[in-house]
Amino acid sequence: MCGIVGYVGSKKAQPILIKGLFNLEYRGYDSAGLSTIENDDIEIIKTKGRVNSLKEKSENKNLNGTIGIAHTRWATHGKPSDVNSHPHLDNSNTFSVVHNGIIENYTELKEMLNSKGYNFSSQTDTEVIPNLIHYYYSKGNDFIHAVSLASKDLKGSYALSILCKNEPDKIIATRKDSPLVIGEGQSEFFISSDTPAYLNETKNFYFLDDNDIAVITKNNIDFYNNNLDKISKNIKTIDWSQDSVQKNGYEDFMLKEIYEQPNSIRETISSTLTQDKVEIEGLKLSKEYLKTINRIYIVACGTAMHAGLAVKKLFENLCKIQTEVDLASEFRYRDPLIDEKTLCLYISQSGETADTIAALKLAKQKNSKTIAISNVIGSSITREADYSIYTHAGPEIAVASTKAYTAQVTLLSILAIYFAEVLEIENPQIKSLKQDILELPSKVTEVLKVNDEVKELSKELYDKKDIFFIGRGIDYPASLEGSLKLKEISYIHSDAYASGELKHGPIALIENNTPLISIITDKKLVEKSISNVQEVITRGATSIIITNQKLVENNFHKIIHIPETNNYISPVLSVIPLQLLAYHVSKLKGLDVDKPRNLAKSVTVE
Ligand code: GLU
Repeated sequence: MCGIVGYVGSKKAQPILIKGLFNLEYRGYDSAGLSTIENDDIEIIKTKGRVNSLKEKSENKNLNGTIGIAHTRWATHGKPSDVNSHPHLDNSNTFSVVHNGIIENYTELKEMLNSKGYNFSSQTDTEVIPNLIHYYYSKGNDFIHAVSLASKDLKGSYALSILCKNEPDKIIATRKDSPLVIGEGQSEFFISSDTPAYLNETKNFYFLDDNDIAVITKNNIDFYNNNLDKISKNIKTIDWSQDSVQKNGYEDFMLKEIYEQPNSIRETISSTLTQDKVEIEGLKLSKEYLKTINRIYIVACGTAMHAGLAVKKLFENLCKIQTEVDLASEFRYRDPLIDEKTLCLYISQSGETADTIAALKLAKQKNSKTIAISNVIGSSITREADYSIYTHAGPEIAVASTKAYTAQVTLLSILAIYFAEVLEIENPQIKSLKQDILELPSKVTEVLKVNDEVKELSKELYDKKDIFFIGRGIDYPASLEGSLKLKEISYIHSDAYASGELKHGPIALIENNTPLISIITDKKLVEKSISNVQEVITRGATSIIITNQKLVENNFHKIIHIPETNNYISPVLSVIPLQLLAYHVSKLKGLDVDKPRNLAKSVTVE
């Protein structure tokens, strides 16, 4: 959510800041702004709306400053408006601040600052920050001490980049529960919320940890903890190319990412699985340890949670360990019964999902071992977890997740096999499951051929009010994901139900011509599933089936065939026509597929 960028070097900052903001547009935002230092004075330009308007506005100003910060805002406190946009200044115009996150005690801080004579012009929580820094500065502290003292007063989450008019050669950056990285170039540094902002400029990044403070000048960077002791940090090299964050001829990132799936799955597999062995870099669990585990928790949000649901059965059947799947936002507040005998898996594509990180911290307090599953090396969640394993999907830019989901299901399935092998569980299924996983990339290529068929189908569906999804067994989590994709980017009301639940309520919603999409991939459940479909057809539904089975009935409106695979991993294939359907429906409605309204790519606030 939101984006922060910053630059310090010898080049003009304004175009570099604008470029960084464009590259972070995928994160979702409603306003944009920037600040540079011009002749020892702070210049601010900000506007409600798109980065493009900020670009035009700032180009007119002819800014020459070689140091600056910029921001795309996803409003939490105060509606999107010019005045609420960042950067925010203190009353004396000495400090300019961009902030990602939420200051939970801003009312209290505002009252305190009011009583000291400070005034506020915006409705944001953020505006207390520059004023609080100024408050400490006015008491004789220098820039870094003032930032450190102010950050100790802040409750909530923040990533901050700060300019000080009186120390015009530096940016101070700090964070807590919100991401911030610093890329190193030749006598220049690039600050950003996420590495794709500046992949063209550098591949070498420092990842700030909670409460780290970085002091950045054009030739130097120093890191401190929040007691201002100097600390050292390692630089990490990111091997993503700038190409991977371009559309490369596709109309939208989402379509590109859907088509990248054979490759992203192949990359994820090739780093972990061969027919002979499973080896997951960074993960070493002993048989003795796994034998003590009596429960696995898979915790995540949104699509990542659906990936967890898709593999629950596999963990239980293969590893014989009870496996629960939970929403991070619920798990973190309900005092879950977990201890050192629980192994907790946390899935987050970005590795920055606030609720998932908080849920992971909770498990650590309760002595459970934690494994993070992320797509971003060095992301916050991977620095908190005991172990981190990676999907190799490459950067995912479209807000609606596609290739990250299929890579997550693939990697989690490989993880289940890894547990079973460490536990020395003899299961003849493992060999064929491995083979089926290895064949996934070519089968995904095959499924993608349904694109034209799905595009045709979308013409019948794009003007519908409600579209329902059903599935049994493994097809239920897949239908949840299909339904989520559709509602996220087409704004059509959609729900998914376990097929057996229809008669317990949802069937009341079926009217003449209500579209109902059924996923049917489990051989053992075909007849049961078909009975459910017949029940809704009888009540007027338009029935669309996604299946890898040969169905004898012929009263369905449309059948989309997908290749057969081991049922445990069938969501990797069955979800693809549904991703394509959501995409084409959204396009037909003329919507912004990559940046759906109200949504942000990584939900870094709870
Ligand atoms: N809470 C701040 C605001 O509403 C920052 C939001 C953001 O992360 O963009 O202005």
